[in-house]
Amino acid sequence: MPISDPASPFRFELHTRLRDSPSVTAERVADNGGQFQARTGTITTPHGQIQTPAFIPVATQAAMKAVLPESMAAEGAQAMLANAYHLFLEPGDDVLDEAGGLGTFMNWPGPTFTDSGGFQVMSLGSGLGKVIDMSTVSGPLGDNHQAPGVKRMARVDDDGVWFRSYLNGDLHRFTPEVSMQVQHNIGADIMFAFDELTTLHNSREYQETALERTRQWALRCVAEHRRLTEERAAKPYQALFGVVQGAQYEDLRRKACRDLSGMGFDGFGIGGALEKAQLGTIVRWCTEELPERTPKHLLGISEPDDIFTAIDNGVDTFDCVSPTRVARSSAVYSPTGRFNLTNIRFKKDFTPISETCRCYTCTHYTRAYLRHLFKSKERNAATLASIHNERFVLDLVAGARAAIEAGDYFEYRDEFLGAYYGVAQPSS
Ligand SMILES: [Zn+2]
Repeated sequence: MPISDPASPFRFELHTRLRDSPSVTAERVADNGGQFQARTGTITTPHGQIQTPAFIPVATQAAMKAVLPESMAAEGAQAMLANAYHLFLEPGDDVLDEAGGLGTFMNWPGPTFTDSGGFQVMSLGSGLGKVIDMSTVSGPLGDNHQAPGVKRMARVDDDGVWFRSYLNGDLHRFTPEVSMQVQHNIGADIMFAFDELTTLHNSREYQETALERTRQWALRCVAEHRRLTEERAAKPYQALFGVVQGAQYEDLRRKACRDLSGMGFDGFGIGGALEKAQLGTIVRWCTEELPERTPKHLLGISEPDDIFTAIDNGVDTFDCVSPTRVARSSAVYSPTGRFNLTNIRFKKDFTPISETCRCYTCTHYTRAYLRHLFKSKERNAATLASIHNERFVLDLVAGARAAIEAGDYFEYRDEFLGAYYGVAQPSS
């Protein structure tokens, strides 16, 4: 379906481009390594709109960890992202289909995303452990590297992937067609094509092989998606995003973008191996090459500086598990940096985590109480800290969106990053 069609149940409207602002000087462009692709827009789905750039909280198993969807709506979340791999294994995508789709099942009325499961199938099975951490291993490890003591649980071939369930070891087969069937059953508004995940440790030769496989799989995803869209015409329209791989190679990334651009995708995900230092550059190659008037999603980023780098270079939506992950270990974000609530100096600190934050936690609870919850291992500790951290990132991105519109994006960005990274400890 053409994305510009105003009758389409899925569309993206572009509002303001940062590059059109007089604040974009030649010096800033040179600093960025190329022209800024940042913009604001609106994604329209059958379950509502997303004002972009937008942070999409992660509800892996159709649940955010320790936080109800009602709380996330109150904090300003616009959409949720769940995981096709996890929901396929438990409770089974047929359950979500019968429940009326992901949003109805989990009591989230707004837009939803699912990722294809490719990342989980392959990262759980790659032998590199559950999460492939690019920062802890330096240098290429080769195409068959396995971490010591980690059993290989996935095998990729040209048709798909055999993998073992991380829950019980059962053997399963994912192909592009299966991924589309699973994601149609789950019923999210935005789905991703099934792709092969590679890492920075793979050889250039392997990256080329994998990229060609991902191209073939993308064609098969589109064909199966069209068939299912027709077959399930009574269901709300589900948009399909192609996923750009190509690791750290400019020619491979640009080729992948050109290949995917002609396939009729509704939008694009930028995936795979992204070293922090190269994040902006790789994202910009992709956003330069992909059609401008399509939404771009960056799969899985973490810290505030990465978020600005992504926005600078034209990412419209991105997901990130860090805010809840670090919250569960008592770390909270503040305008002057991240700090740990269990510190002794908060024992009698009856101020909120952040004086400027308007989240539920900061308007009702003190640092002293939160410290007490963490020290006594009360579950509400994770809930309250997660609500604050999610709100912090939602506000950060909403601020960036407003600043692009207002023409003072660089002031906003530089002030935020200066305060966040310039001061080691919060005022207490
Ligand atoms: Zn707060």
